[in-house]
Amino acid sequence: LTEAPLQGRWNSTVASLQKDVLATELKDEKGFKGHSMLAPFTAGWQTTDLHPLVIDKSEGSYVYDINGKKYLDSLAGLWCNPLGNILHPSLIKSPKSSSIWETNLEITEPSAVVDNIQVRRPDTASLMSYGGNEPRLVAAATAQLNKLPFYHSFWNRTTKPTLDLAKEVQEMFTATEIEKVFFTNSGSDANDTQVKLVWYYNNALGRPNKKKFIARAKSYHGSTLISASLSGLPPLHQQFDLPAPFVLHTDCPHYWRYHLPGETEEEFSTRLANNLENLILKEGPETVAAFIAEPVMGAGGVIPPPATYFEKIQAVVRKYDILFIADEVICGFGRLGTMFGCDKYNIKPDLVSVAKALSSGYMPIGAVLVSPEVSDVIHSQSNKLGNFSHGFTYSGHPVSCAVALEALKIYKERNILEQVNSISPRFQDGLKAFSSSPIIGEIRGTGLILGTEFTDNKSPNDPFPSEWGIGAYFGAQCEKIGMLVRVAGDNILMSPPFIISPDEVDELISKYGKALKATEERVQELK
Ligand code: PLP
Repeated sequence: LTEAPLQGRWNSTVASLQKDVLATELKDEKGFKGHSMLAPFTAGWQTTDLHPLVIDKSEGSYVYDINGKKYLDSLAGLWCNPLGNILHPSLIKSPKSSSIWETNLEITEPSAVVDNIQVRRPDTASLMSYGGNEPRLVAAATAQLNKLPFYHSFWNRTTKPTLDLAKEVQEMFTATEIEKVFFTNSGSDANDTQVKLVWYYNNALGRPNKKKFIARAKSYHGSTLISASLSGLPPLHQQFDLPAPFVLHTDCPHYWRYHLPGETEEEFSTRLANNLENLILKEGPETVAAFIAEPVMGAGGVIPPPATYFEKIQAVVRKYDILFIADEVICGFGRLGTMFGCDKYNIKPDLVSVAKALSSGYMPIGAVLVSPEVSDVIHSQSNKLGNFSHGFTYSGHPVSCAVALEALKIYKERNILEQVNSISPRFQDGLKAFSSSPIIGEIRGTGLILGTEFTDNKSPNDPFPSEWGIGAYFGAQCEKIGMLVRVAGDNILMSPPFIISPDEVDELISKYGKALKATEERVQELK
């Protein structure tokens, strides 16, 4: 995982899989081979042999490629599209709440009865014009585009959806008090903003040396210079002259991989908290400003924290007056079955980063949530200086904010947490039933997020040779049979839309099972 944790759909090792596995699937009639885009997190983009998978439209939990092939989207885009693309009828609890369809865009043809409840669904013509996407989010964007497509939030000017969203986010986060919300364009610039806020805060407090950040090995916090530095994944650093010198990394809290013989989860957590304390003492507590963590690590392999981990880590951080930053970019807004990961693990952060599900991925937006302790200091300092000189043209973009407001309203009205909690046992138990496979080392997850790690002999210490491309082979098999997963080395990551139905979960499990069988056979052949 540490060698190739973030490889994209293809790397040079597995480029040949396009020929081996997908030869009959990939067509290039439209000439996308050798395209002009420098593709993010993709290897071999310059290789004219490689076909990009070009996604053309979406519907519910599915996406379709440019050739019309349908895929179950088991990663909800990039962990970011929890409402999928149309609301599943199982979420509609009463005729009243079916007002989803009663938008001012007249798509209110009643067309189905589910559990004796009349569900209003768009007629075919509306579906065509909406592309099968969540009509309330489409309507929110359209209405805002028609009214005010852009205005900024600099110099005490702003827009109403921007202010409304700040209030809404502030109220939704209840793990600790939130005083202010700063808007960004993404999770990466939310985490960059965290560093600037913390430095500004410590400068204001007259602590110019308290500037170091501690993050964790295998964490992912984004790919800008600073957020990539915070991330604990070597490929994000190698060849980019990173991490920046003020960033330190402490242990990855992956019990299965790193526990000592006979060590319980609680003992493992104690050891990691001690290691963190020793690192702080070695560096000098007066130099360490903040600790940043994802409640459940996502891109690093889906790693839920071991028992008592956050309790012990928080005690250390507090002891040395170090700020705690919760990176909720994946966990936030329900993925774990609680509104935030902080609720699930009793984390009391000083600062929080959110993005992705904030707008259900329909528009780019991120945010930093700031506690009163930090915002009070920032405000008094900026008053002294006459300005708080940080912000982006699109901070609080009115269309992104209008869509996000609607997404948050839908999460509440449709009780998205109940949906996640009712569907996630089927998802978790169904997939964890494959744990006995001889090529699976560990399957781990909670709520609607799950990771599979392929290893030999069921041991964390026996990886398959990386040139076998086992994870990539599994991913290619899934793609062949119509399911998109995230391949990260020999880890497979999944986080389906919250609206996934029981039948779709069964389909996901069945496709996973087929891809697994083919991958087991591949391992046998290679051995
Ligand atoms: N933080 C976490 C936990 C993430 O998973 C991600 C993206 O996957 C980011 C930050 C960066 O977000 P973005 O890609 O929107 O910049």
